[in-house]
Amino acid sequence: MNRAIILGSGAAPGVPTISDGWGNCNPHNPKNRRTRAGVYVEINNIKVLIDTSADIRNQLLDNDIHTIDAVLYTHAHADHIMGIDDLRALTYHHNQGLNIYGAKPHIEEIRNRFDYVFTDIPAKEATQRPQLISNVIEYGQQFYVGNLKIMPLEFAGHPVPTTGYSLDDGRLVLVPDYKIIPPLTLEYLQKIDVNVLIMPLTNLETSRYHAGKEDNLMYIQKIRPQRVFWTHMSPKCDYDNVMRISPANTAPAYDGLEIEL
Ligand SMILES: [Zn+2]
Repeated sequence: MNRAIILGSGAAPGVPTISDGWGNCNPHNPKNRRTRAGVYVEINNIKVLIDTSADIRNQLLDNDIHTIDAVLYTHAHADHIMGIDDLRALTYHHNQGLNIYGAKPHIEEIRNRFDYVFTDIPAKEATQRPQLISNVIEYGQQFYVGNLKIMPLEFAGHPVPTTGYSLDDGRLVLVPDYKIIPPLTLEYLQKIDVNVLIMPLTNLETSRYHAGKEDNLMYIQKIRPQRVFWTHMSPKCDYDNVMRISPANTAPAYDGLEIEL
């Protein structure tokens, strides 16, 4: 079955947040309880994770996911990478290593902060560790995981450049944290037929490092995807309220949402 699962639909603090609770979100709606952002995608039996938040262990257990072929990283901010150690469980029963992909600065940062998880860096202790193999992607240059074609795309306006991914020629496109879609990326997304677009809606209003609802809608009109799901939502984004203001074929995601591709 070809599908995506929204593992986590929250921004960095999750919902509720430790500091401020539920914000504008109705605490009685279970769809408002959000772990940190991540997506699982399965196309033609190839299984990939996009980002590994600190919540990844529970996310994989909750969604009954036990094997992964590769991990794609959008950037190296803490809310997207801090679960990397839990990838250990995915190589526990075999010694083949697990490929991770990302742009050069993101891979470098991950390697600096988690040197012990990579097979080409000698282990300091003889303990179990994740066995990861790092791969640097170039924007606009497609690569394959098994038979799954993946196109990495550059996004801008977050404090660091971020990487989005188009899987299987637009069957699914994941937009990372962003504020601006650079012309080359937009051109590409207009050229392919985008089936499902997963897009961050961190706050409804445009903020310093994040696009808001109006920016997203402006880009959606240009890209013309068939379906859109908002993710990476802060406590300012109540599920029912966001649903009310979303146009046709567009809806807020929630943790555990399964999307047929
Ligand atoms: Zn970020």
